[in-house]
Amino acid sequence: MKKILKIALPDAPIKPYFDYLLPEHLKANPLPGVRIIVPFGRQKKIGFLIEINHQSEIPAHKLKPIISIIDEKPIFKPSFMRLILWASQYYHYPLGEVIKNSLPKKIKSGEKIEQKYYIYQYVEKKNKSQLSKNQKALLAYLEKHPKGLDEAALQAIGFQKRTLSTLEQKGNLVKIEKKQKLKEPTLGNNPSPLTLNTEQKAALNAIQENKGFQTFLLDGITGSGKTEVYLQAIKPLIQEKKQVLILVPEINLTPQTIQRFQKRFPHKMAVFHSKCSEQEKLENWKEIYNGKALIIIGTRSALFAPLKKPGMIILDEEHDLSFKQQSSFRYSARDLAIVRGKIENIPVILGSATPSLESFQNVALKKFRHLQLNKRSNLKPLPRFYLINIKDKKLNAGISPILLEKIESHLKNNNQVLIFLNRRGFSPILLCHSCGWVAYCQNCDAKMVWHHNPKRLFCHYCGFNQKKPNECPSCQDLTLLSLGSGTERLEAVLSKHFSGFPVIRVDKDSTRLKGSMENILEKIKTGKGQILVGTQMLAKGHHFPNLTMVAILEGDSALYSANFKAGELMGQLITQVAGRAGREDKLGEVYIQTHQPNHPWLETLVQKGYRAFAQQLMKEREIIGFPPFTYLAAIRAEARELNKALGFLNQVRQDLSQFNLNGIKISTAIPAWMEKKANAYRAILLIRSKKRALLHQCLKKFTEKNYKNSQQLRWFLEVDPIEIL
Ligand SMILES: [Zn+2]
Ligand SMILES: [Zn+2]
Repeated sequence: MKKILKIALPDAPIKPYFDYLLPEHLKANPLPGVRIIVPFGRQKKIGFLIEINHQSEIPAHKLKPIISIIDEKPIFKPSFMRLILWASQYYHYPLGEVIKNSLPKKIKSGEKIEQKYYIYQYVEKKNKSQLSKNQKALLAYLEKHPKGLDEAALQAIGFQKRTLSTLEQKGNLVKIEKKQKLKEPTLGNNPSPLTLNTEQKAALNAIQENKGFQTFLLDGITGSGKTEVYLQAIKPLIQEKKQVLILVPEINLTPQTIQRFQKRFPHKMAVFHSKCSEQEKLENWKEIYNGKALIIIGTRSALFAPLKKPGMIILDEEHDLSFKQQSSFRYSARDLAIVRGKIENIPVILGSATPSLESFQNVALKKFRHLQLNKRSNLKPLPRFYLINIKDKKLNAGISPILLEKIESHLKNNNQVLIFLNRRGFSPILLCHSCGWVAYCQNCDAKMVWHHNPKRLFCHYCGFNQKKPNECPSCQDLTLLSLGSGTERLEAVLSKHFSGFPVIRVDKDSTRLKGSMENILEKIKTGKGQILVGTQMLAKGHHFPNLTMVAILEGDSALYSANFKAGELMGQLITQVAGRAGREDKLGEVYIQTHQPNHPWLETLVQKGYRAFAQQLMKEREIIGFPPFTYLAAIRAEARELNKALGFLNQVRQDLSQFNLNGIKISTAIPAWMEKKANAYRAILLIRSKKRALLHQCLKKFTEKNYKNSQQLRWFLEVDPIEIL
């Protein structure tokens, strides 16, 4: 019977896999998970073997044979195969593309994963008369070296590779594979573990007593010592040479966490992130695949690391949105980490000072075990919160007079102050004083932001930039005003006002050069009285010993957002930024400027803290019927005209409603919040259900329709979107 190979191909999204024949001359059965070269149209492609069977929907005479098999050993373990199959089904995304997303480029392009080492040995054979002079010479040479020689040594004295392979085929010599000894990872001089407080100990015990799969939510306030719990939890696993996967939001923003793992467990780490070179990615991949790297730290894509002997998955800052990929394969690394933990039967720890509502809901449903750390590890108190009402107040670059006084008093005590504003550039609006013209991006529905360094107008959504016009393009008036504040203006105003104190700005612009973030962090850690101006880059994980005050300039900006997650994100960001204050001996203070000091969200957050705030939001979420109380998917369309995008989505809605799917809510198609972005008009359709299975039934119907994706109209499906704007 003919053997049919089911092969997933990247960049061929029409089908999950394609059928090929195994030609007679390739006797050995390849194992699922190996890479295979196949003909595809007029080109060759590298595909991935999913399974072998005897059936195909395509008539046998139409099937093509494969060209060759790259690997002897599969590059995917069976458990990994289950993970990618699951992901492909859940996200309704082509299998070949899921695989493509999970591998380094060099593996996809066919690079060998094992460098094999062979030696050649002489075999006694009588019939030598037909051999050429060269062949005889080679055999004579090998006869003198009975232990055998490798190819390089033979080539070095002038024998050719062709001579070797001919003699191998004729049976005059043998080729023997020599195993190279793998280097053992060495245990370094571990700095000794810190002493745990009672809460940390209880959390550690719960994790260590557990056997097999279990998700833990390590819910610990900022500074409560979650990292120390991770470090001690993985120690016994590392001693057993099991691998631990640690996922973090962004490598550059969490250098301190990585350093701590590096110091405690040296020589056994692989760090995986988007800034690694392709060669580094390949090397890391091999180290993990061979089981040499035991601690793997990386951003979301490290979830697909080829673990040989998995022991645990840790995902730090689980609430962070960067765990969700927002383009092409739109997966959540947090959700897939749990799936992977279940498949591998290992524990998964999700850590956060501000857990997501989904995770709180999973605790309530008893899917997660809740471990709480309510005290800072050094037992210092949390900072005090104050709301500043700025209604009708005169502001200087967005700063109220009372806030200026507070800043001054902290600086005079030789302490650091962090001013948080999540907007870079100098000013977000360029306005004509005479006619009201405003500078908009030519490609987007977005205002151009005026930057001083370099002096240009930038669109923060598509990257378009241009010179500032000398006069108003509409009325030719010469008075163009730059209104509102970004971090650049804040830096300028604060430097002038507090001339004796250095001002350090931390945003995407000031940290663009490699290594600049490290320099800035060092300056902050060692400096005394200085002002830090920063975006959310400064919010996460940093420990600044001399920082005693945090000011949040626009504490209420989220209150005006239409995204269902806006309130949650606001609470997380404020709590995280606030957590930078007063981490050592001096008490921290947090000031939040707002036009709505009586808003129930802000009141609860400030008076009762993040957990009470989250409980309040949960009730609101349940009422509006959004996740985690329903399952949500979005279909988005982009076209040159808004009507085309809307028309497509309304057609989809109509098509889906014919199936009479009870328990499914399909919204009408609406324009996206930013209707035009990078020259495309965008619209969105939301599908919701209280039952996950129902939602996926509906999405399956959608994908089975095979709607065309073209230059004129691009659509994509997103499961569990975090933004519905
Ligand atoms: Zn004008
Ligand atoms: Zn733009």
